[in-house]
Amino acid sequence: MSSREALVCSALALSCFASCSASETGKLEGFHLPAAVVSAATEPAPELKKVVVAETPKFTPKDPQLAYVLGQDLGIRSDEGGKGYFLAPRAHGKHNGIDFLAPVGTPVLAACSGKARSDERGGYGRVVQLVCRMPNSLGGNEGLHASFFYAHLDKAVPPKGWVHVEAGQKLGTVGKTGNASGPKIKPHLHLELIIRGSQEDALAETHSGVVKDAANDRFLELLADECLEPAKFASVHGEIRRDRRADPFVVLMCAAKPKPDLTEPSDDKLKVAQIRWSEHYTAGGFEVDRGPR
Ligand SMILES: [Zn+2]
Repeated sequence: MSSREALVCSALALSCFASCSASETGKLEGFHLPAAVVSAATEPAPELKKVVVAETPKFTPKDPQLAYVLGQDLGIRSDEGGKGYFLAPRAHGKHNGIDFLAPVGTPVLAACSGKARSDERGGYGRVVQLVCRMPNSLGGNEGLHASFFYAHLDKAVPPKGWVHVEAGQKLGTVGKTGNASGPKIKPHLHLELIIRGSQEDALAETHSGVVKDAANDRFLELLADECLEPAKFASVHGEIRRDRRADPFVVLMCAAKPKPDLTEPSDDKLKVAQIRWSEHYTAGGFEVDRGPR
């Protein structure tokens, strides 16, 4: 064999070794592969088993046009006078709003941009009513309107007639007026929310009685699709409505800019009166006490 012939021959052998199938390679003189290697190379690779973790994606409101109603968050009021969560038992039935624990004098802020007015209302004390169109994400294109009702205020900024206010604007200060004046009742903002089908209905809303409005059915459907389902957000009590009233905390978490962190009151008398949000709500998409952010 000439040196040129030897070169061609070894090149052919190499070429065959590189391109022949494993079984043919196995038959090559001097190149026997172990049976296990041959079999592993011909069998399809086992499929990778994926572990699916049922985790709720992080939730933030798509259209956060609302604003939290206080510059600090001390949770819900609980004292000898009662508990301040939505639908807590009351002598007259059930609590229609939420009592946000806060020292007297704490500024209360407009939850939305709209029209506000103040009044004196017996057991509710000094009040401010705030009416605004719901963001389309929660109000559809149908023009659903919210009427927020702030009660037991010390001072109220808007006059008795309607004036325009912007979300986040100061509406007054936390007080103990009306039936919150007793020493057993810790200072708090009583906040109610009613959903009506039009601005006209919302401006005429008196926050008393049991007038039903189908607008709240529609609103709760939109709320479920936009927020409650994707965030896996719920009240431990199950209910977030009472006739035409809705749970204001739920609506704020679903449509407001980030709220202040929940903190402990510095005053010991208020400290013992605090209920954390996480005692009444659960969520998968955000930490309830911090709120979506
Ligand atoms: Zn209340």
